[in-house]
Amino acid sequence: MSQLRGSVCKLCRRAGQKLFLKGQRCYSPKCAMERKSYPPGQRGSGSRRYRRSDYSKQLREKQKIRHIYGVSEEQFRRYIREAERMSGISGHNLLQLLERRLDNVVYRASLASSRAQARQLVSHRHFTVDAQPVNIPSYLASVGEQVEVADGSKDLQPIEQALAATAGGGSLSWLEVSRDNRSVKIVGLPQREEIDVDVDEQQVIEFYSR
Ligand code: SF4
Repeated sequence: MSQLRGSVCKLCRRAGQKLFLKGQRCYSPKCAMERKSYPPGQRGSGSRRYRRSDYSKQLREKQKIRHIYGVSEEQFRRYIREAERMSGISGHNLLQLLERRLDNVVYRASLASSRAQARQLVSHRHFTVDAQPVNIPSYLASVGEQVEVADGSKDLQPIEQALAATAGGGSLSWLEVSRDNRSVKIVGLPQREEIDVDVDEQQVIEFYSR
């Protein structure tokens, strides 16, 4: 996603829904979707509406999910291939793989306010996995592994702010978070109902089966 130019809010406006790419701003009245929920380049409620073909619906779902998790097309194709190789429902497998990315785990544990910020923190070596530094945002965390803020980064401002913004927030059954230790243990795999992304993942699988 480093190749993205301009505001990521345009991606939400194009998708026609909030993709939550900018942390706390997404929950505030400053969110672009609160002010201009129509696609960029159109003029709002008076703009023409088109009936979407199956292809364009599938394409839209694919772009949404890719933007939510911030992965390139090439990376995304690799996830698709892996999801199809795994047993079970390919769409669920796809989401599980994306959720296991280290940047996503950091975000889900409230140690960053967005996946983009989590990706940056991971790249800058602020996290360890089982006490070993890992600076690869796409690293796939496995059950039993412990992700922790590296020594020397425990009081980093973005991490403090992310924790403060989510104080009292809900927890996920597959992650055991210790806010005091700035760590999270992966204790299971996320089930579909726990993954709060508003996408139709089966459409995405169908898009790549064409
Ligand atoms: Fe999307 Fe967040 Fe921008 Fe709102 S503030 S348009 S949810 S990225």
